[in-house]
Amino acid sequence: MIPFNKPCYLGKESTYIQESIVQNEKISGNGPFGIKCKNWLEKQLGSKKALLTPSCTAALEMTALLSDISEGDEVIMPSYTFVSTANAFALRGASLRFVDIEPGTMNIDSEKIETAITNRTKAIVIVHYAGVACNMEKIMELADRYALLVIEDAAQALMSTYQGKPLGTFGHFGTISFHETKNYTCGEGGALLINDENYAERAEVIQEKGTDRSKFNRGQVDKYTWQDLGSSYLLSELNAAYLYAQLESAEEILADRLSTWQRYKQMLAPLEADKQIETQQIPDYATHNAHMCYIKARSPEERMLLMTYLKEQGILAVPHYEPLHSSKAGRSFGRFSGEDTYTTREGERLLRLPLYYGMNTEDVDYVAASIQNYYQS
Ligand SMILES: *Cc1c(COP(=O)(O)O)cnc(C)c1O
Repeated sequence: MIPFNKPCYLGKESTYIQESIVQNEKISGNGPFGIKCKNWLEKQLGSKKALLTPSCTAALEMTALLSDISEGDEVIMPSYTFVSTANAFALRGASLRFVDIEPGTMNIDSEKIETAITNRTKAIVIVHYAGVACNMEKIMELADRYALLVIEDAAQALMSTYQGKPLGTFGHFGTISFHETKNYTCGEGGALLINDENYAERAEVIQEKGTDRSKFNRGQVDKYTWQDLGSSYLLSELNAAYLYAQLESAEEILADRLSTWQRYKQMLAPLEADKQIETQQIPDYATHNAHMCYIKARSPEERMLLMTYLKEQGILAVPHYEPLHSSKAGRSFGRFSGEDTYTTREGERLLRLPLYYGMNTEDVDYVAASIQNYYQS
């Protein structure tokens, strides 16, 4: 069986975990490995401040607290995304406004955002689907003009860029996931990027259960006390140790995934030329991290049959999101703004192919050949 995903493991992870337990004797949050990861993120991305969190979901919740989202505020986002993008803001009482995607990237259509803005709109939450950038120039221009906060759900987008600048560093906040399904992982984990310094101090307080413990740790206050709302938004040092091994080898992981992605693209080109399937398009303004390789069948029925055929060949290819506006919770916490021209239609045709660090070329070729066989028979 060719799985859809295998969590990335290089070997050094176990050594670092051992080191945190035995040498460092520090296994809670913000220990030596946590600090190394945070420094790596700040340096690599050029973000003002990075905080490691238990998940991208937790980082998104922190952005909702930092944005002071409250009952009656409206938050704009795509409907084609993971539930965490929406939950974080619905939990603070926001009403969600789902905007259609552009079919080429499956990202929020920056041209359709403006009509969704009202005097209650507080923030625009964008998702860089498959690690491919949204149109950041247009989105930041709109946000500036209407004085809105921008949150980049860059869960899938570490090591991707828009016009050469890392994703997650354009908005006021960016969030990253280190879940085992993502390119860089530690099982469960995430990061919050603070790109506007004004939020840095409060973010530390929210992360430390609403206390100024971070200042205390740095010797800036002689005891720590309750300052503000907060929760426990720290990543365990054991996870940070695992993660640091991957961040150190970020370029190697990227190169490996990109070569698999390019191999798929090359092997599937004839089917695309025959207009049997569509493959991913990367806009000129973007470089991507090969988080995902998806194809689009001509219809939802064809996707279903292809998926079943691939499963019979021992290949796990999987669909992705049910649009949030069609889900039970999505209907009660928000509504679609404008027409759903592409969200449902394109989502129903999309099929994600196996892609993970260390995937054999023979396996990639076998998946591509199986797709070809399906269309030939
Ligand atoms: C994976 C993912 C999340 C959630 O990440 P966790 O670290 O599992 O909380 C949120 N948004 C998007 C777009 C994702 O792909």
